[in-house]
Amino acid sequence: MSGIASILAVGTELLGTTRLDTNSLFLTGELAALGIRVVRKACVGDAWDELVAEIRAALEAAPLLVITGGLGPTDDDRTKEAVAHVFGRALVRDEEILARLVERFRKRGITMPKVNEKQADVIEGAVVLPNPRGSAPGYLLEAGGRTVVLLPGVPVEMKGMWTDGARPLLARGTDGRGLHLRILKTAGLPESLVEERAKPVYEAHPDVPFTILASPGEVLLQFAARGTKAEATELLDRLESDFRKALGADIFGRDEETLEGVVGDLLRTRSFTLSLAESCTGGGLAARITDVPGSSDYFLGAAVTYANEAKREIAYVAEETLLRHGAVSEESAREMAAGARRRFSSTVALAITGVAGPGGGTPEKPVGTVHIALDAADGTRAHRKVMLPGERAMIRRWTTALALVLLRQYLMGRLETGRT
Ligand code: AMP
Ligand code: MG
Repeated sequence: MSGIASILAVGTELLGTTRLDTNSLFLTGELAALGIRVVRKACVGDAWDELVAEIRAALEAAPLLVITGGLGPTDDDRTKEAVAHVFGRALVRDEEILARLVERFRKRGITMPKVNEKQADVIEGAVVLPNPRGSAPGYLLEAGGRTVVLLPGVPVEMKGMWTDGARPLLARGTDGRGLHLRILKTAGLPESLVEERAKPVYEAHPDVPFTILASPGEVLLQFAARGTKAEATELLDRLESDFRKALGADIFGRDEETLEGVVGDLLRTRSFTLSLAESCTGGGLAARITDVPGSSDYFLGAAVTYANEAKREIAYVAEETLLRHGAVSEESAREMAAGARRRFSSTVALAITGVAGPGGGTPEKPVGTVHIALDAADGTRAHRKVMLPGERAMIRRWTTALALVLLRQYLMGRLETGRT
């Protein structure tokens, strides 16, 4: 297998304003791990002539082409037909696949629609890649010094078929030496500070590709090593341990780990329960926490106390506190946290109140002013006031990250202030 490839994402929706091709990002990383560099990627609609032209162009660019999308049962799904056409191959009905499809529908209690029959037509001479997560099988075709892999468009089906079906076949043709990526994640720190602390480590390894990526609330360190999986892992582990020495507990996780997942694990290990009172994030923190499968082990619930009456009636914030200090204040945040903890009888509670903008700011409390409070059964109370930059969505995302950071500090026994 040569070291270069093209990727083609098929689907008219990918040329519109609502859908982005994310499959190629996953595939680029996977190909890199096999030592295969992507030299061309494209999106094309379902129109026949354009699809055929694009397949030809991609095959000009590299001897390996990975295509996703357009394997469905409807008339506009024609990727398989176009590839067969380009290579002058026939499509042949595979009775075994047909029987499997019929069975798949029968299990769901439906008679298979006639349109699905064409999914049992396979490209002559191609290896069929099974799709346990969906109806469309995929293909790997080797012809004329070219290899074409056809995968479904639905990301979970595509990933499954790649990992179980296509990758093992492609890996056979490589020497197993590729580029392997690792990501270490920090939260709540400014990018410049992360950079300053990480710099001595990456400067000591000038040949290691290294990037810092910032998003609201998180800064990621990304680096890569070339070699077999074992060789690369050894180098990546060494680098990781150096970065961990430099950044300490500010690194909350790596690769697929998320802040909400890591915090959830901490809550679970300590047998703690969590509740929330949210104002300016409108349930955004609850959404992040419940994104994690199994969060019902520790998450009891959240109240979105947006109006003053809700803060008073639901989170037990005193009328006087609201009058004297306002809803966006340290006092209100602390009372909201205590109120949520009482309301839900949790071990720990977080509260958020702030001005997400664009309106509602005042000279004393400009847009981006946010108060976060924590209240725990062991008597720990903490509060953070932050002034966040950016517009509404960014302020809200930053706020949920900082609330999770505060909770993580408490759970790790790293809260600097607030025991009262
Ligand atoms: P298809 O296999 O063409 O029927 O695609 C089914 C669905 O998968 C589309 O409606 C998209 O939501 C999604 N999809 C297709 N191609 C991509 C892609 N390149 N990246 C992310 N999602 C995709
Ligand atoms: Mg499609």
